[in-house]
Amino acid sequence: MRIVLVGPPGAGKGTQAAYLAENLSIPHISTGDLFRANISQGTPLGQQAQEYMKSGRLVPDEVTIGMAQDRMEQPDTSDGFLLDGFPRNLRQAEVLDEILQSKGQKLNAVLDLEVPEEEVVKRIAGRRTCRTDSSHTFHVIYSPPKAEGVCDTCGGELYQREDDSEDTVRKRLEVYHSDTEPIVDYYKAQGLVVTISALGKVAEVTRKAMDAILPKAA
Ligand code: AMP
Repeated sequence: MRIVLVGPPGAGKGTQAAYLAENLSIPHISTGDLFRANISQGTPLGQQAQEYMKSGRLVPDEVTIGMAQDRMEQPDTSDGFLLDGFPRNLRQAEVLDEILQSKGQKLNAVLDLEVPEEEVVKRIAGRRTCRTDSSHTFHVIYSPPKAEGVCDTCGGELYQREDDSEDTVRKRLEVYHSDTEPIVDYYKAQGLVVTISALGKVAEVTRKAMDAILPKAA
């Protein structure tokens, strides 16, 4: 299956993507994680992306599209993939269509995770992310780890993402409305969008997501 996950920052895309990818036996491709890995390795690509990410803006398409395309060409994607954070604007959505068309492939579904805006800011301001696996996230109030600063799942170090400060979250939300939301209409016109609420327990949201996606598998 080939799936795109969309939703505002704080909708739980990373967490849901990890579970869904595992359930569907397809790789989870997160452009945010790819950028963060490049930044921590100090690569030129990471250096190009860093300032944009810090301020909550999109990394330019010339940098992002090549990186996403390289990842989608790895052999583990032969049975599909779950894209988390790509495409993030109309240009990227059009290029993704061109890439898939050139291989005679198409998307099966676009899962749209809905969450109210006040909830987004609350969720992100207290979010702590594991350095070892970014799908392991905690919240200082709503789901604190057993030991402060340590991931319950793998023992990795928990940190606050540089772009999770309140000001940057507001900027990321603005960018989501102006640049990313239009792709939902683009995909609606192709009959691909399934929308679910991202509120509730993680396992419940995963179950709703699976129920919404599976009918699109054919
Ligand atoms: P995420 O981990 O998906 O929240 O992404 C974190 C940041 O990485 C975003 O705020 C952007 O600065 C950058 N980023 C991730 N994916 C993309 C993309 N498809 N296009 C442009 N910038 C991106």
